[in-house]
Amino acid sequence: MTGALYIAGLGPGSDDLVTPEVTAVLNQATDIVGYIPYVARVTERPGLTLHPSDNRVEIDRSRHALEMASAGKNVVVVSSGDPGVFAMASAVFEAVENGPKEWRNLDIQVLPGITAMLAASARAGAPLGHDFCTINLSDNLKPWELIEKRLRLAAKADFAMAFYNPRSKSRPEGFVKTLDILKDECRDSRPVIFARNVSRPDEEIRVVPLDQTTPDMADMRTMVIVGSSQTRIIEREGSPIVYTPRSVG
Ligand code: SAH
Repeated sequence: MTGALYIAGLGPGSDDLVTPEVTAVLNQATDIVGYIPYVARVTERPGLTLHPSDNRVEIDRSRHALEMASAGKNVVVVSSGDPGVFAMASAVFEAVENGPKEWRNLDIQVLPGITAMLAASARAGAPLGHDFCTINLSDNLKPWELIEKRLRLAAKADFAMAFYNPRSKSRPEGFVKTLDILKDECRDSRPVIFARNVSRPDEEIRVVPLDQTTPDMADMRTMVIVGSSQTRIIEREGSPIVYTPRSVG
C-alpha cells in the first residue's frame, strides 16, 4: 500500500484562484488535514475524511498527515495561499527531518497556490514590479529584534516590502512599531497598500501615503505592501493604480 502526501495551496479565497492541479488532487484525496477555516473550504463527499485542527499545532498536524500517508492514504495538507509561504510545507518537512527514516521515502509533493502577496499586488497594480522583499511580522517563531533589524535594512536597501500577519489582537504593538520604523527610515509619503480579504466577498483595498498610515488600518486578514522610493501612483476615477517602474536610473 503506497500512500501519497500533497501539500496544497488553496489561494487567497476565491475558488477561481485555486489551480486545476490542486482541484484534481482534492478530488482524489482520502483525507484532508489543515487549519479549521482552510479545511472548511474543501467540499465534503463520500470517501473523504476531513481532519480540521486548531492553529499553532502545525507539527502535530504534519506528523498525523505523514502517518496516514505511510498507512497508504491519499492525504492532502491544505494551506491558504501558497503552502511554501509562511505555511504548512516547511512544517511538514521539519517533521520529516526529525521523524522516522521511512517518511523520507514517501511520495510528497508541494502544489503551489497564489499567495496573498501576489493577489494583493495585482489588485493595486504592480507595486512589486522591481526588487522587493517579504517579511512575516508575526513574532511567534522569531524574536521581535530580528523583525526590526530586517525592516530597517530592507528600508535602507530601498526594497518594496510585503508584510504577512501584520497585526494580531494578542500583539497589536508590533505593527505600531513597524509603522514607526518605516516612517523613521523612509521619511516620505510613498504609497502603502492595505489589502484586506483579497478575492473574498468583503475585499477592501486602500492606498494611503506612508506618513498618514495608522496601525488600525491593518488586521490579520490584511496584506500590507509598502512601496519603494520609486513607487508611483496613477490617479484616476475610483482607486488609483500603484506601480513600481522596472528600472532604476
Ligand atoms: N500561506 C499564505 C500566508 C499565510 S500567513 C499565503 O501564501 O497567502 C496569513 C497571512 O496572509 C494573513 O495574516 C494575511 O496577512 C495574509 N493573507 C492571507 N489571505 C489573505 C487575503 N485573502 N487577503 C489579504 N491578506 C491575506
